[in-house]
Amino acid sequence: MLARALTLGLLLAAWMVPETLRAQAGGAASPPAAADPADPPTPSIPAIGVRNTRYLDVPASALGPAVDPAKGYRLQDLGRGLYMVTDNVYQSMFLVYDRGVVVIDAPPSYAPHIPQAIAEVTSRPITHVVYSHSHTDHIGGTRALGGHPIIIAHQETLRLLKRAADPGRPLPTVTFADRYTLRVGTQVLELSYHGDAHEPGNIFIYAPVQRVLMAVDLVFPGWMMWRRFAVAHDIPGVFAQVEEIRQLPWRTFVGGHVARTGTHADVDLQAEFMRDVRRAAAAALAATKPGEGLDPRDAANPWALFDDYIDRVAAKCVNALVPAWSTRLAAFDVYVWDQCYAMEQSLRID
Ligand SMILES: [Zn+2]
Repeated sequence: MLARALTLGLLLAAWMVPETLRAQAGGAASPPAAADPADPPTPSIPAIGVRNTRYLDVPASALGPAVDPAKGYRLQDLGRGLYMVTDNVYQSMFLVYDRGVVVIDAPPSYAPHIPQAIAEVTSRPITHVVYSHSHTDHIGGTRALGGHPIIIAHQETLRLLKRAADPGRPLPTVTFADRYTLRVGTQVLELSYHGDAHEPGNIFIYAPVQRVLMAVDLVFPGWMMWRRFAVAHDIPGVFAQVEEIRQLPWRTFVGGHVARTGTHADVDLQAEFMRDVRRAAAAALAATKPGEGLDPRDAANPWALFDDYIDRVAAKCVNALVPAWSTRLAAFDVYVWDQCYAMEQSLRID
């Protein structure tokens, strides 16, 4: 029994050590023990919790124009009075009309620069702020905009912000349930709610004149989604909303993250990746037996049984995705394990 436990321990250790590290060790480590039939092959991407000493290169296609370090932000003209502001990690927008400016989101990472970015194109005051959703990393810089703007958000966002009681996120003054059309001068913003996905209250913001759609934390043009389908509150909802985004007739997409704006090809690519993760996780679940290879002394520990089972499912899911995807989305290696763990859980319980 002790020998069996030691073998399992060695196997586990071998599984946790990235291929690259073992290659660097010059094969001096003891040869791998005979494979336990329950163990999938070691994925080439280090698992969660294992230090990655060198991440995959970021493809040039994922990068946008550089940010001038002296300014700390980049301004991108989206046409007819609509602009994107970004620090190449976060993205927000502002819309200029005849008497003022509507700001959409104020990420704290660069919100103090938003008035400066607006001043590059107009001296008109900020009259309105639209919140995409309640998360502080997208709206926590609202106070830096100054004044007392009208703040528009979904009613769920108001509920969540009341609960948060965060002085950095002033409460919305206008809320809606399904749709809200903001008309200012000749400019229009169509706000709409498509249900829970990333977070209750997260809305689509469409500028019909410019044909620009902003929807935050759902699509990451050129990049792997942030971990666990961008910390999705509801994973099936995220799949449905990415599909909705794919089918809407916008010309430019603003996702709230990464450097550049998105195209339909970007959304198609992410949707294809999501379908592949779902397929890979479903196949791994079907091909894996709970408890197989588990030390019999752990048989009375259901948490251990599931931990062992789910680790094997996730490893098979990662293995299935590596050949096709490791060079197609930037930072694939950073979050592929997280996506597989999130997907297998969603498939089992949602
Ligand atoms: Zn968010």
